[in-house]
Amino acid sequence: MEMETGCPCCGRPVAAPWKLTIQPLRLYREWRPDGQRHAAEHRLCDACSEWLGGLVAIACGEGAGTAVFGSPNGGGRRAVFDDQCQVCREMPADRAARIAWVSPGGATLGVFACAGCEAWIASLAADGRTVRGVADREVDGPYGTWPHPNLRGIRVRLAVEDSAARAVALETCERMAVAVVREQADIAVVEATARGSAARALRTGIQGGRGSVVLAGLRARKDLAAALQAGARCWMTVPLTPQQLTAALVAALRPAGRSGWEPETCLPIADPATMDRPVVLFTPAAGADRFEVAWLLRRFARGYDTVEWLDGRIAVTPRVHADQLPQVAARLRLLLEGRATAEVVGVRALPGRGRFEAAG
Ligand SMILES: [Zn+2]
Ligand SMILES: [Zn+2]
Repeated sequence: MEMETGCPCCGRPVAAPWKLTIQPLRLYREWRPDGQRHAAEHRLCDACSEWLGGLVAIACGEGAGTAVFGSPNGGGRRAVFDDQCQVCREMPADRAARIAWVSPGGATLGVFACAGCEAWIASLAADGRTVRGVADREVDGPYGTWPHPNLRGIRVRLAVEDSAARAVALETCERMAVAVVREQADIAVVEATARGSAARALRTGIQGGRGSVVLAGLRARKDLAAALQAGARCWMTVPLTPQQLTAALVAALRPAGRSGWEPETCLPIADPATMDRPVVLFTPAAGADRFEVAWLLRRFARGYDTVEWLDGRIAVTPRVHADQLPQVAARLRLLLEGRATAEVVGVRALPGRGRFEAAG
């Protein structure tokens, strides 16, 4: 049963006569409705429908205005093929969605979107309040202001072709007084691609002297996994936010010595004995693409949040006060649209933790 009053996107008690329908698709021999994920429908008021349509148009490179930070970006790539994501122009691997705005009169305007763009659009439709009306840079809030660690004197080399990610990286480095150089540097930022660019870069000497980080789109799992094997310290998703990059640079400078990477999700394997904050634990649904779940959580987590593999589940540790955890869990759960269930788990109840405490 649906609430008849109110628009979920803006939270205002107004009529919501628009519909945003999302039909998940899966590539069998052609794109067909995904048997494992249900179609979803979000109600929108006039203002929200226009706002969200405008954001998508900007992300598509068609609208005028300022993109919300963290929004997808075509990065100058052109739409050539029918099965390119119409928002970010990536070629979806095996999952995508048809998203349609349906006007009160029944007129429909649709886009074909990759899983990342689908999650972004759906999450904004379900609750746009965290993004709406705030300056573009504050999308990373309400986690407080963007912390600038002292990275002065650090030299960064960018092996990144994605023009939007590159622009964010350059601007972020400039704001932190971090030098971007063309030669050997302290930290190398390499981009994973379907062509294996990241692993090749690391193997051919584009290593940071102190550490390397990888930027990865949804289709770049193989190259990402290879780059982690080749010694990269951490990874971020494309599109990138300044906070994520900042956090990654800090992580790259930390001494290595992690307990390794889970190969399917490319997430670091958590050590429950050292976890000292409550976490949101995500259990991927049967049949869900676990890398996609991990990637989406990494994509929408804030920079300093950790996303780790914990005993068959994915543990997100948001850097927020404990009383905000249920909100963060709810938002991330919305983003995953049925790909995983979520629960907030206290430190003592963490999987693998009981043994440890009983022994201590
Ligand atoms: Zn609204
Ligand atoms: Zn996309």
